[in-house]
Amino acid sequence: MTGGAGFIGSHVVDRLLADGHSVEVVDNLATGRRERVPSAARLHVCDLRDVRLDAVVAAVRPEIVVHVAAQAAVSRSVGDPHFDASVNVLGTIALLEACRRAGVRRAVYTSTGGAAYGDTSVLPTPEDHPLRPASPYGVSKVTAERYLECWAGLTGGRGLTLRLANVYGPRQDPAGEAGVIAIFTSRLLAGASCVVNGDGEQTRDYVYVGDVADAVARAVASADATGIANIGTGAETTVNELYRRLARLIGVNRGAEHGPAKPGEQRRSLLDAARARSLLGWRPSTPLDEGLTQTVAWFRKEVRA
Ligand code: NAD
Repeated sequence: MTGGAGFIGSHVVDRLLADGHSVEVVDNLATGRRERVPSAARLHVCDLRDVRLDAVVAAVRPEIVVHVAAQAAVSRSVGDPHFDASVNVLGTIALLEACRRAGVRRAVYTSTGGAAYGDTSVLPTPEDHPLRPASPYGVSKVTAERYLECWAGLTGGRGLTLRLANVYGPRQDPAGEAGVIAIFTSRLLAGASCVVNGDGEQTRDYVYVGDVADAVARAVASADATGIANIGTGAETTVNELYRRLARLIGVNRGAEHGPAKPGEQRRSLLDAARARSLLGWRPSTPLDEGLTQTVAWFRKEVRA
């Protein structure tokens, strides 16, 4: 798999190993960390765009490729769309080409839901909703989905795209833009104030990283599953509500500060995951409060370490 040293990828590696798979990871450690890859999985430190990728895939000859590696920061994609496309589009093409040459027949790709559908009044949003990505990141992720479909058609392979909602949980990096849950949790634990952009009534569909790893594991186990499936909870949570829940869990009485709204920020995002249920038998099993409790526990341990 690719991206196994990152936030989501490392949970996927843990889950696939627990399911008894043999796992090899390709990651250039741009945002990933070597120590997140368990010793039971082999790590190849290699960029997707490196000519060495072909030899790595040819040597491993995997039964299935799980493609998680990406330039995953929306803000970076806006500042440097060329770099974003080079990783997310050209990197994906390089991987698919390496798969074709090595005779790999199956690939699972983690794409994005919210950034692909953009602002819409169709909520929860199903997979066949028109795509209106509003950032270079959204465009590059959706473009890679098309290359996967095209690869499957040309090679007779099978591709499955999982469009993830807003993922949160242990190991999410609170630096940079990351997820609001990681940022609020680390700041609340440090006694720092939290800033909510705008009125805080913007919503997202927050899905726990363990449930995402479960979706990927089910995708790997479902040899016939192809196409696109949303992975989200179908529940909408405002930023204000998230802050209230986290402050209560951490024991902070102070309210959040409000800053200016971010221009162009999406107002609502909510995914319809009915297809994941019928195709993979997947449904989210971690209620928000339980996921937040696990996330806070992990951040507390990190602070002490
Ligand atoms: P992350 O930055 O923690 O993980 C990305 C991993 O890819 C890192 O380990 C990084 O080192 C590796 N990588 C980056 N560029 C690479 C390159 N050129 N060659 C090889 N490896 C490279 O981010 P994440 O949040 O874990 O995201 C994982 C995937 O899930 C991405 O594809 C992202 O688009 C998708 N996704 C994430 C979310 C979310 O809420 N975090 C939501 C929807 C989709």
